[in-house]
Amino acid sequence: MTTTENNSAPTVFSKIISKEIAAQILYEDDHCLAFRDIQPQAPCHFLMIPKKVIRSMNELTSQDQGLIGHMMLKIQDLTRALGIAESGYRIVINTNSFGGQSVYHLHFHVLGGRLLTWPPG
Ligand code: AMP
Repeated sequence: MTTTENNSAPTVFSKIISKEIAAQILYEDDHCLAFRDIQPQAPCHFLMIPKKVIRSMNELTSQDQGLIGHMMLKIQDLTRALGIAESGYRIVINTNSFGGQSVYHLHFHVLGGRLLTWPPG
């Protein structure tokens, strides 16, 4: 299902959370889920998402502070476990159309395993 910034329909990520759609899950707890991106842009490319439906960075509130910190620390754990922490990696949050967001459920892309160039496209 295609979702846009103006469409509040459930996204593919809600279906991954509910296990209606399969994903290569790397980590899960009551608050967040990490799984491999289906179209990897680097040798290691996974997504970290909150289980709470937050459609984009623009919807974050101060109530989400602890959740975001929790997700960041779990990303740190995963980058170590996946062997990309030392060589380095990039965390990307695409937001709305100019940011290139295609799924309207907040997600952190984590990309590593190759040299990433700057500036991004
Ligand atoms: P964005 O363009 O920042 O919204 O990123 C959405 C990401 O979700 C893209 O990198 C997609 O490849 C990824 N994606 C979409 N559907 C799935 C899926 N079923 N399983 C894993 N990743 C997905």
